[in-house]
Amino acid sequence: MLQLRDLTRRFGDITAVDGVSFDVSDGQLTGFVGGNGAGKTTTMRMVMGVLARDEGTILWNGAPVTVHDQRRFGYMPEERGLYPKQPVLDQLAYLGELHGMTGRDARRSIMEQLERFGLADRAKDRVEKLSLGNQQRVQIIAALIAEPAALILDEPFSGLDPDAVDSMTDILREHTVRGIPVLFSSHQLDLVQRLCDRLTIMARGRVVASGTVSELQAGGPTRYKLTLGG
Ligand code: ATP
Repeated sequence: MLQLRDLTRRFGDITAVDGVSFDVSDGQLTGFVGGNGAGKTTTMRMVMGVLARDEGTILWNGAPVTVHDQRRFGYMPEERGLYPKQPVLDQLAYLGELHGMTGRDARRSIMEQLERFGLADRAKDRVEKLSLGNQQRVQIIAALIAEPAALILDEPFSGLDPDAVDSMTDILREHTVRGIPVLFSSHQLDLVQRLCDRLTIMARGRVVASGTVSELQAGGPTRYKLTLGG
């Protein structure tokens, strides 16, 4: 279980994340919603340790998160970071190696994921040959290959066609069934409401609502409209 407590990050005069606290529980799909500039990406970067925090604590299973823990989290960053010239399979094998996955088993598991996303026949193509939607799928696979202990996904659904959204949803659900916590950000409130167990809504660096979908719906739809302004 991930617990964010009073996370704060400033950039000069801007307080991008201002005392953010919420939980991402084991086996639950937690949606992270907010308008442009609300502070979602900055929060996720702090959870992953790619950005230092000014204040606050991140707990993993009750203890302060360590770099070792963070390495076990699957992460899909907002900036997609694939090497365009590298073949898809080699790119994923390289990313797998960073998580300690080597050899034939690693390649087999990557091929299984490529098959699930309908990309097995593209394994030898260079990343740049793939459509943006397919590059997005490769990026998702990159977050999934090393049997992550948690999943932190920044806008995983953006640019995906409805079929890919469905297969992505199935895969996220499988991970929650295995008991791991999953946090993903999105601008699409309707999608988040449909998919998630819980959601956290951010605006201007702060959490403005957090709870189960039905709890928040009981608060009334105007609240969403209000808060999604960013
Ligand atoms: P989006 O959905 O548009 O990605 P977001 O909710 O992920 O938005 P962030 O990207 O976390 O929001 O940005 C929060 C605020 O912090 C914005 O005002 C942004 O301009 C600012 N910000 C983020 N990163 C930096 C940075 N490296 N330097 C300066 N300001 C930054």
